[in-house]
Amino acid sequence: MAEVRETDTRPGRGRRGGFGLGPGGECICPNCGTKLTHQRGVPCYQHKCPKCGAMMTRT
Ligand SMILES: [Zn+2]
Repeated sequence: MAEVRETDTRPGRGRRGGFGLGPGGECICPNCGTKLTHQRGVPCYQHKCPKCGAMMTRT
């Protein structure tokens, strides 16, 4: 069993598997690294990070 641990382990938001480089993609906060699932029709840069308020960017 291989347990992969990333340095980016934040409480409350676990990795659910199945995420990746899919067509939907994710938005990431360049400031604190918070990731959100990208919503179709809404550019990442129009989202604000829920944690720090910075504008998100596309992964
Ligand atoms: Zn942030």
